[in-house]
Parts: sequence; structure tokens; C-alpha cells
Amino acid sequence: MSYDLVIKNGQIIDGSGIPGFRGDVAIRGGRIVGIGQVSGDAKKVLNADGLTVAPGVIDNHTHYDAQVTWDPLCTFSCYHGVTTVVIGNCSLGLAPAHKEDQEPLASVLSHVEAIPLEAIRAGVTWNWETVPQYLDALDRRLGVNVAALIGHSAVRRYVMGEASQDRPATEDEVSKMRSIVREGVDAGAIGVSFERNLRHFDWNGRLAPCNLATDDEMLAVAGVLDDLGTGVIQVGGDRKLGVKLTKATGRPVFYGNITQQAVAPELWRERLTEAENLMREGHRAYQFVMPRPGDLRYTMKMAQHFDAMPSWKSVMLLPPEERKQAFQNPEVRAKLREAVEKPRDTRVAGEFTRRWDLQFVHQPVLAKNQSLKGKSMAQIAEEQGKNVLDAFLDLIVEENLETEFERREVNSDETAMKTLLTSPYTVIGQSDGGAHVVFRTDYSYCTYLLSHWVRERQIMSLEEAVRKLTFVPATLFGLLDRGLVRPGMAADLMVFDPASIGPLEQGEARDLPAGVTRRSQLAQGIRWTIVNGRVLLDNGKHTGDLPGMVVRSGGPVSTNAAA
Ligand SMILES: [Zn+2]
Repeated sequence: MSYDLVIKNGQIIDGSGIPGFRGDVAIRGGRIVGIGQVSGDAKKVLNADGLTVAPGVIDNHTHYDAQVTWDPLCTFSCYHGVTTVVIGNCSLGLAPAHKEDQEPLASVLSHVEAIPLEAIRAGVTWNWETVPQYLDALDRRLGVNVAALIGHSAVRRYVMGEASQDRPATEDEVSKMRSIVREGVDAGAIGVSFERNLRHFDWNGRLAPCNLATDDEMLAVAGVLDDLGTGVIQVGGDRKLGVKLTKATGRPVFYGNITQQAVAPELWRERLTEAENLMREGHRAYQFVMPRPGDLRYTMKMAQHFDAMPSWKSVMLLPPEERKQAFQNPEVRAKLREAVEKPRDTRVAGEFTRRWDLQFVHQPVLAKNQSLKGKSMAQIAEEQGKNVLDAFLDLIVEENLETEFERREVNSDETAMKTLLTSPYTVIGQSDGGAHVVFRTDYSYCTYLLSHWVRERQIMSLEEAVRKLTFVPATLFGLLDRGLVRPGMAADLMVFDPASIGPLEQGEARDLPAGVTRRSQLAQGIRWTIVNGRVLLDNGKHTGDLPGMVVRSGGPVSTNAAA
């Protein structure tokens, strides 16, 4: 027997959840063809002694629709072990598109997902019109694999033009939308995405097309998948609509996320109960959980979350030098203290949570304060024997308002997060990779899960975490020949050191078209990332190869197995 690639002596964690075992993985023609003791010639051998060999991560919710056209690696997801991304979420997408739809689609994607419009304009070469043409265009040049949903807003725009942002559709228009979805799924799109969210509009302030659709229109469009007996549905923004689509169709529906929030402590449990109840009734209604804590950073030069308290607002509006003086003034300080010691008014949006235990010093300025790094203000106040507000204001005054804090009020309660992450009724993911590029780096959720939750907190086994990152999304999204290390499966693999894998500190990259800057985050501990049997990244460096492909819709299992 001869092989293209053999990975020797790794600890194989196959994605199914069974205990890892030592062995080799043999690959030929992009597929896994042998596991265990492999003998025979190989064009290339990788020694994985001391490393874990697992399926590549399937990132189940991204917005790389534009970026993938100029960046076939979908950075920075690929650096975290991701080998397949799902695009076309939240009703958005760049196909189908007539020439005159290109700018409006770019505008809505840019505004809703916070991707600078100049980057999309400079980066995208529109060499497609229909969904099948878009998939084929992507397929010619991919580093990672891409599975695409068809965005309802794009379809609506294509059929209705300007009117898509003004009015409900006619029966004739809905039937045209249905044919487009049918044609796209026939060509390999994995489903369709919807959104209802009145904060979603374009740069002219006009609502995204999806917001003008009635429930009936969405039910009719989604019904195409029932007719075809394949495909998944993603719904953003409107949880009731998500549940309605779940009950009306027989298809898997992904309709929201469950977040633990300091401001609404009961919310996560209510949503988890909803997920459990729907699934126990037999519905395929899935909600995502993001393993990373919301890590909003601020300094007291620029912070909005004190503004809802009038005494704070008037101080925060002062120029920095006067603001600093005000923070030192005993009378002002007394007023500020009175405000934060009053119980939080839950009717006021954005009211400061009073959770000093969730305000962490991220970066102190002075050398003498470096020991405060990583501590919460509550802990610092206790250590200093001070009132917490004094400890906070003394620090920021001493450091000229430049101390960097991190607010961890979302997904930061570790007991709640353990329940959510280990529940069989939640799906881990929704990175929004490619979106919110200036603020967020949630695409590091997979390396964070493996380092923080598995290695440090030990809330689940490595086998279980790998299963949740690979086999579970592959199964739910109908990517039936991925997500397992098993003969016959596509050879998408990540080979990593479980003792060191993890995200690195965030940085900034000026790597978007038109010289646009974004937040960046890389990872450590991943030795090789392999896509369709070929090495994409070697120690975090791109090999130059582009082995990715468009992953076409599930359909009957036999068509996949035969491929
Ligand atoms: Zn989204």
C-alpha cells in the first residue's frame, strides 16, 4: 500500500468521544484510508509523537463571505485549527447578485457585521451572479473548506431590487426566491439563513431586506428545504421566529445563542430550559454557546458604561485633565460613590452593574503596579484594605487614566459556563469570524476551549471537547464526510500539543484590503493543520498550498461516501 501522507505515533482523538489511542493515520487522495499501525510507502511522513491528532474544527457561524474572496485561508480562524467555515449567516451574503446589487449587498454586510466598507470594495472581485457561480468561484481558490448558506436578504434583493428594502414580497416574488434557493442547494449550498433585527440596516440607514419579509415569506422560502429533504436553517435576531421555523419545518434550525450575563442572571437558564424542552419534544432547534468570556476593554479616558449615572456622566464628559482632578476631589468622589452604592436600576439600559469583581486590571501603566495585572478591582480593594471605589479611582488617577481594564460581564460566571458548555443541548461556536473585525476575536473560541476549559478548569475531557468542536457541528450541518478521524472521511486534521495549545494575546493587523486595520489573535501549540490531506499550516505558517474546497450539501449519505 502507498500513501500520500502518513501521520505517525500520534494520540488519535477521533471526534466521536471515545478515549484517545496511540496510532498512525494514513491518507490518500484527500481521504483517510487507514488508522492504527500503518505500513507501506508514503510520499510524506509527519512524526506526531507526543501530539494529538484530531479532526479539524468546523466553525459553524462566520461572515467570511467577502473576505474569503481575497483571503482563501479565512484568517484568523485557520490559525486556531479550523479547517471548515460556514458562511452566509444572518441572511447576508454576496450571491446571488446582479451588477446593480453589488454595492447594496456590500453596504448591508459592512454595516451589520462591522466590516469596513472600503475593505470590501477594494477586496472583492465580483465574478459571479448566481449562487452556483459564486460557489464555483470560491472553489477555484480555497485554503480552508467553505460550506455556504444562502442569505435570504441577498435573494430578496436579487428578486425585488430596491423594493426589497421597502415592502413585503408578492406571491410571484416569493416563488422566484424559492427557485433561487432550490437552484443554490442543488449546487451545494448547505441551507438558507434568515434574520429579523431592526438594528440591521445599511450605510444609508435603510433596513436590511430581511426585515421587510413576513413570517409567511420566510416559511415559504424555508419550505424549499423540506421539499428537497436536505439543508439547515439559520435564523438571527428573532428567537420566536426561530422556534416557529423549527416547528414548521423538519429541518435543523440554529436560532440564537445562550449567554450568561451579569445584568440578567436568570436568562441563560431560561434559554437552556427552552433548548432542552424543544429537543425533548423532538425538534432540531439549536442555540450556540460561546466559550470565550466577553472581554470588553476600556480605560477611563474612554468608557461608556458609567454614563447612565448622571453624576458620573458629567465627570466623564470633562476633558481628561479636568476629569482626573474631579476624581481626586473629595466632594465629587462622595457623589460618585453614592451613585455606585445605590442598587442598580434595572429599568435603565446600560446601567453600571456594580460588579467590581468582574472589572479586571488588564494592563497597568506603572512598573510598581504590574502585580495588579489580571486581578479584579474587588480583589485589589480587599488587598489594599480600601473601599473599592477609592481603590479604583486612586489607581486611575495615579496612572493618568491610562490603566487598561477588562470587563468580563458576559460568559464570565464559571459555574454557569460549565453547565452551558457541558450540556448536550447546546452547540459550541458562533464565532462571527470575519465580522466585527475591529472589536472581536471570538474565532479563538476553539483554542480557548481546549486551553482554558479543558486543560485548566478540566470541565470536560479532551475527547468530549474535540467531539463538540468537530463531529457535532459536522453532523448538525450535514457535512457527513467530515468531523471524524475514520477511514473514508475527508482528511481534515489538526495536530496539536494538548499541553500548550491556546490563544495568544491579541494584537493588531493592518492586513485588510485598502490598508484597513483589525484586531488579530493567533494561537500556539498547533503543529500542523491539514485540509483534504494536504498541510495548510506548518507551525502556524502557511505552506503556500491551497487545499480547501466548497463542501457541498449533505444530501443522501451515499453521494458523500462515493466522492
Ligand atoms: Zn452572524
